[in-house]
Amino acid sequence: MSSSYVPCVPPGLVETALQGAPTAQVTVQSLRGNISVLMGAGGNIIVLPGPDGKLLIDAGFSGSRSQISSALASISSDPVRQLINTHWHFDHTSGNEWLHAAGATILAHENTRKRLSTATRVDDWSYTFPQAPAGAIPAQVFSDEHTVHANGATIALTHYPPAHTDSDISVHFEEADVFLTGDTWWNGYFPFIDYSTGGSIDGMIRATENNLARVTDEMIIIPGHGAISNKSELASYRDLLVEVREKTATLKKQGKAVDEVIAERLTARWDDAWGGGFIAPGPFGCLVYKGV
Ligand SMILES: [Zn+2]
Ligand SMILES: [Zn+2]
Repeated sequence: MSSSYVPCVPPGLVETALQGAPTAQVTVQSLRGNISVLMGAGGNIIVLPGPDGKLLIDAGFSGSRSQISSALASISSDPVRQLINTHWHFDHTSGNEWLHAAGATILAHENTRKRLSTATRVDDWSYTFPQAPAGAIPAQVFSDEHTVHANGATIALTHYPPAHTDSDISVHFEEADVFLTGDTWWNGYFPFIDYSTGGSIDGMIRATENNLARVTDEMIIIPGHGAISNKSELASYRDLLVEVREKTATLKKQGKAVDEVIAERLTARWDDAWGGGFIAPGPFGCLVYKGV
């Protein structure tokens, strides 16, 4: 993009997140099927301990290593053996290098490897991520579907068509019936949408419809960010995305500029509950406007 590009998100988001990582508070929540979730160090981190060694989904911030290490030790003494990334973003992969050095083999979608293997600019974050260190790059990749067997669990991985990025996957722990959406769902926060690496509002809506078609009322659903949840809350999130997308498209067709559409406060009824995360209402409105 040219230097005249106006990002949807105010500059500094990535820097602020990285600076906060060493003092981030990491909590551990145990779910069923021996699965735990670590929250607070970037995206949600899922841990399945056992005789095969710990399997992790996502790596969080490297700067939160000491808190993540303590949290992992509080779950079991098993070494870390496998790490799966839900997509390429820094808040899910920046811990890849130390976890690989600690013994983890890394698995991800092929586009996660592609994005980490080169310098990658995210225009709406005004940030260029350098090529990841060799140890951080997934050694094993897949394109559409892949199944992992570890610690007695069957773990089904499925690539989404481009949604939040072009590297997103869902993860289903089949026996425990726990489903991870990666960053196609931010529960209680307006989501970021990474147009620079294949994301779009329509892709996010398509992924959310896809999630709703796959999940059941009995499933535990883990979003990429935010609290553990369920199908009915996922349906509310779909309604938010669809309503804001449709209203934005109507106003854009009438010729309204992005700032005029943001001033309409299309997300107003969600702002108190949802506007406190990484992505404030204005930047979210801008990200939707960009894709319609
Ligand atoms: Zn994330
Ligand atoms: Zn992300």
